[in-house]
Amino acid sequence: MEKLIFATGNENKMKEIRMILADAGYEILSMKEAGIDADIVEDGTTFEENAIIKAKAIRELCGCLVLADDSGLEIDYLNKEPGIYSSRYMGEDTSYDLKNQNLISRLEGVPDEKRTARFVCAIAAAFPDGRIETRRGTIEGRIAYEPAGENGFGYDPIFYVPEFGKTTAELSPEEKNEVSHRGRALRMIREVL
Ligand code: IMP
Repeated sequence: MEKLIFATGNENKMKEIRMILADAGYEILSMKEAGIDADIVEDGTTFEENAIIKAKAIRELCGCLVLADDSGLEIDYLNKEPGIYSSRYMGEDTSYDLKNQNLISRLEGVPDEKRTARFVCAIAAAFPDGRIETRRGTIEGRIAYEPAGENGFGYDPIFYVPEFGKTTAELSPEEKNEVSHRGRALRMIREVL
């Protein structure tokens, strides 16, 4: 079976990816499983640019098909912060409990209709022949008034999805994959593999 490396060190993301690409016909490896350890500088200005930078850098090392994603949370009231800086917001080592509390407090007194936000995920596929494809998936929601839920990771406890009446941390992994930015982007990129 042809190898596909997903350029992430995030185990939560790998779980989501394995579920969605399970029947795509590839042996899916994380960077760790592929024995690749690279510190890539993500200095792009968009989610797509960062995904392409990562996918190309890993393709240089393995010569095989590489997928990479770049994702984050855009809060409209905060001029789309934290955006491409989502994992670096308040520092990489700051807990998400603190990051989430901080964002909630920055939205104190802001009414529902102005709390709109979205998760964005851009996925780049770097093919061994040099071709690059990107796809973007999003999920629209609102910043909750307090964190809720134990599933998922990162900003999930404060991302409220009105259709479900729940945060994405209150959805099961299967439910989240069906509607999430990453699920949507992965299903789109699956079409070009
Ligand atoms: P990346 O690993 O560079 O793509 O950064 C993504 C960051 O955005 C993560 O570390 C989280 O802070 C946030 N993020 C992306 N996707 C999700 C999600 O599905 N749930 C919660 N937070 C997310």
